[in-house]
Amino acid sequence: HTHSNGKNSDSHPNIPQIKFTKLFINGEFVDSVSGKTFDTIDPRTEQVIATVAAGDKEDVDLAVKAARQAFDHGPWPRMSGAERGRIMTKLAGLIDEHKEEVAALDTIDAGKLFVLGKIMDIPGAANTLRYYAGAADKFHGEVLKMSKPLHGYTLLEPIGVVGHIIPWNFPTTMFWLKVSPALAAGCTMIVKPAEQTPLSALFYAHLAKLAGIPDGVLNVVTGYGSTAGSSIANHMDVDKLSFTGSTKVGRLVMQAASASNLKQVSLELGGKSPLLIFNDADLEKAADLALLAIFYNKGEICVAGSRVLVQEGIYDEFVKKITEKAKSWAVGDPFDPNVKYGPQVDKKQMDKILKYIEHGKREGATLVTGGKRIGNVGYYIEPTIFTNVKEDSLIAQDEIFGPVLSVIKFKTIEDGIRSANNTKYGLAAGIVTNSLDIANTVSRSIRAGTIWINCYFAFDPSCPFGGYKESGFGRDSGMHAINKYLQTKSVVIPLVNTPW
Ligand code: NAD
Repeated sequence: HTHSNGKNSDSHPNIPQIKFTKLFINGEFVDSVSGKTFDTIDPRTEQVIATVAAGDKEDVDLAVKAARQAFDHGPWPRMSGAERGRIMTKLAGLIDEHKEEVAALDTIDAGKLFVLGKIMDIPGAANTLRYYAGAADKFHGEVLKMSKPLHGYTLLEPIGVVGHIIPWNFPTTMFWLKVSPALAAGCTMIVKPAEQTPLSALFYAHLAKLAGIPDGVLNVVTGYGSTAGSSIANHMDVDKLSFTGSTKVGRLVMQAASASNLKQVSLELGGKSPLLIFNDADLEKAADLALLAIFYNKGEICVAGSRVLVQEGIYDEFVKKITEKAKSWAVGDPFDPNVKYGPQVDKKQMDKILKYIEHGKREGATLVTGGKRIGNVGYYIEPTIFTNVKEDSLIAQDEIFGPVLSVIKFKTIEDGIRSANNTKYGLAAGIVTNSLDIANTVSRSIRAGTIWINCYFAFDPSCPFGGYKESGFGRDSGMHAINKYLQTKSVVIPLVNTPW
């Protein structure tokens, strides 16, 4: 594996100047009330990139107040959907214009590949925003068929003030996946980005202001989960909480919602997604897909194909192929266009992943490639593959959230389905086969929110995305996501002079 030892941030040609490090409340960048800050670290160099305002309860209170004012009295919920759509389309254009700069922010903050940010994450986010801009004037209530002489209809109204709490692995994608449908619905909001990756969110707040999103509609409060995040989840005046992150914190925010004002909650949580490869699969393609499914974004993706289930007829040959091909997954500085993945997001994640690798070895799985940290500066880990993994073992059950693949053998189709469903999670699954019968049977039998057949990570703004089981509930993306940010109101009028 190549490893260019994370050049000094300041001398790198791609490193942008950090322009925004304060909270964005009511259309202004402001210090935190306490004056506290936190450091955001470059995972390539382990050096501080910037010092960012640390929001806490007082700041969340101010942001919620601004959002409430904008919701109750501001123009955003009152303007036509088409008008909101026009502003959102303008904002999408600004995101595209600044794609190099924000892609670089995500690279230094999260260790993400710069090239992919520039050609996929950032333009993809702009397209998500365009999708919802186009949708903003195309959802409406219905006329009801009443059993009495009444005229009844429903109104779809924006739910109110939304709190979005998001993770660090896709700072741009997550931000716009949450914000876009809520904007289309006419809501106002507070976004709390992960403490590891605050920079692009603040940049987007600046672009939103430039595009003409009214003050108070989109507030960004950076800070830690236990302070800023928890204050949003516990707030008495937040109407809806949209959370993406770990299952552990998902439980906490749901409890907070329950203990405070019963705000509505939707949760996008962890996964341990299976990729099933059947005897009839094209081995070359299946091997490439399996490696992409686990190593993309260094395995830091909730839908990572972290369990590859291989039918016994091709198992040995498949293992040989992926072991060989894994060597072409060059790891190094994410600005280097020849590199296929960069450093893990922080030391905590790196240490956690290395611990799981040690556990896998102790559990008796066969380590066929990788298994170690690369170098001693930056949080780089080798592409790691375990074979002969027992399906109930820890590395086959826990979400590792790193470049560590478990390969598991199965016999019959039924056996494969059972093994795929042997998890508390249910976010996604992949199937590689040339048989329509297998594809149809298996896709209907797996309890997961997204099934990819002969592909993986095929996302689209129109595609609902979310989990079964402990992967959460509610759907981001697609028209389903707008519903999360709407209330349904029934209105009834007598048709004749009846006493009701
Ligand atoms: P995390 O749950 O620790 O953090 C997510 C967010 O929650 C961060 O903004 C964090 O500051 C905040 N937070 C932490 N404690 C909080 C609290 N007590 N109250 C309120 N907010 C709090 O998760 P992470 O480690 O940052 O991200 C990795 C996890 O996210 C993985 O489990 C992964 O599967 C999941 N994830 C899921 C999806 C999805 O769409 N389903 C997408 C990306 C990541």
